[in-house]
Amino acid sequence: MAHVLVSNDDGIFAPGLLALATTMREFGRVTVIGPEENQSANGHRKTLTKPLRVTPVKLAEGIDAYSTDGAPADCIAVALLGLISTPVDLVVSGINRGANLGQDLTYSGTVAAAFEGTIHRKPSIAFSLDNRAHDADYTAAAAVARRIASEVLQRSLPPMTLLSVNVPRLALEQIKGVQITRQGTRVYHDELVARLDPEGRPYYWIGGEAPTGDINLEGSDIWAVHNGFVSVTPIILDMTAHSLIPQLQAWEMAL
Ligand code: MN
Repeated sequence: MAHVLVSNDDGIFAPGLLALATTMREFGRVTVIGPEENQSANGHRKTLTKPLRVTPVKLAEGIDAYSTDGAPADCIAVALLGLISTPVDLVVSGINRGANLGQDLTYSGTVAAAFEGTIHRKPSIAFSLDNRAHDADYTAAAAVARRIASEVLQRSLPPMTLLSVNVPRLALEQIKGVQITRQGTRVYHDELVARLDPEGRPYYWIGGEAPTGDINLEGSDIWAVHNGFVSVTPIILDMTAHSLIPQLQAWEMAL
């Protein structure tokens, strides 16, 4: 019997969260703690300057669930710092509405919740479905999540690492398989949209088309999902550009 802690960034009542929590019940006990509101693209936020409220919610039979007014990473922190007393064996986040590929990982609240699990030394996995439709079917992605979570529960993960899993928008029998990938290169099409409020003062939206990416970079997460594979990317919380260290040592930075 494992105890799985589940969160997301789309909000406590998102269908992807329910699909993930429900399938994790097969491993044993499930506790859900998710943000009250959509916290997509809120990154790895830690709330230190205001109180965090936790509210018990009814999600599904046999699942303990809470919402908070914090970010996804706050949810995991609150749970693992003592809100829940039963030891946690696995942290999973998602299933996100939309892929988290390439540099999306730096924005993603879904992945940030898994980062937080990793920091608390729990094996952690982020799951995202490459479908932003509000009526998206999470059945295939939930089956993928179950398979990968089962492996992680058996084998664990090294310290400071997590898995970011992206599932293509296909029925389970149409998915071509699983590729172990590296982060690809996202191309963002963000545009600054400036408008005027009723008092004539400008305000701004970050608008523009959805991001694309280099689909031809073989072995990347973007390439895998584009070609109908589940992408499993191992992520490490050491952000050091190791290859740049020798070069920087040759700079003249002595004071
Ligand atoms: Mn999201």
